[in-house]
Amino acid sequence: MSRRLPAFTLTAIVTFLLVQSLSAQTAAPTNPVIQTNSPLATSNPVTAATPVIPTTNAAPPMGMQKPQDVPGKPGERSSYSSVHVDGPYIAMTFDDGPHGTLTPKLLDILKERHIHVTFFVLGQCVKEHPEILQREIAEGHEIGNHTWDHLPLTKVVSKEGGLTHEIADTSALIKQVSGKSPVILRPPYGATNPRLSRAIENEYGMKVILWSVDPDDWKDPGATVVESRILNGWKESGGAKPGAIILSHDIHKGTVEAMPATLDALLAKGYKFVTVSELIALEKAQPDKAPTATPTAKP
Ligand SMILES: [Zn+2]
Repeated sequence: MSRRLPAFTLTAIVTFLLVQSLSAQTAAPTNPVIQTNSPLATSNPVTAATPVIPTTNAAPPMGMQKPQDVPGKPGERSSYSSVHVDGPYIAMTFDDGPHGTLTPKLLDILKERHIHVTFFVLGQCVKEHPEILQREIAEGHEIGNHTWDHLPLTKVVSKEGGLTHEIADTSALIKQVSGKSPVILRPPYGATNPRLSRAIENEYGMKVILWSVDPDDWKDPGATVVESRILNGWKESGGAKPGAIILSHDIHKGTVEAMPATLDALLAKGYKFVTVSELIALEKAQPDKAPTATPTAKP
């Protein structure tokens, strides 16, 4: 008995050490690391490469843990690149204006067709052309915040007071000029992450709007190319489909020139144009694993 005891003890020790070493090995890969993958990552390198922890006064509440951009209840998500809808609804969006001559031209084109769109405006441009913003509002379009200086918010967030200037000052000017505070924001370059998007919603009361169709019109590929890319898609960007949010810019001549034919083609396919907030209001609950809904009213 006295001889077996040490053997048993030895076995116990060896087993203990083995278990310890095994659990140390398995634990290693799952050690907490800063999660930098963003489910919102677009092809934009700014988004993909930027881990962001807000550090300004506008930082999100500390209790907020690992915000996920999982589909929420209809109308309750923090960010959108498209919306699940049951009808042929799409939202055209125009960024970076207002522009002194091109935006009024675009407004004429939209007015002729009774189409309402969403303008994501820059604070510095609104300051320069407040009367154009007033016309956008008067003609039934929605105004969204696109920051003051068009800097990536994922960088701005680490600058003291940076978000306040880029976001709050722009919203304040829009309110002052139009009488209405914007409820949506598009981050320049689409540079955001779930935590930042949640902070923008919680601290500034705006949902973050990205896009599902990107014609790269800012590279001025020409009107017919812009039109074709919006209608048919290109690269990883799909073309117009129900619930799509289409990105474009009203500060480029080629984009505005592309609009009459593009809008007419979309109208001919049966699409109905709504503002981004209207599109979000139309969001339907997404059934689990159901095939993508095809609207009964085509397109
Ligand atoms: Zn922009």
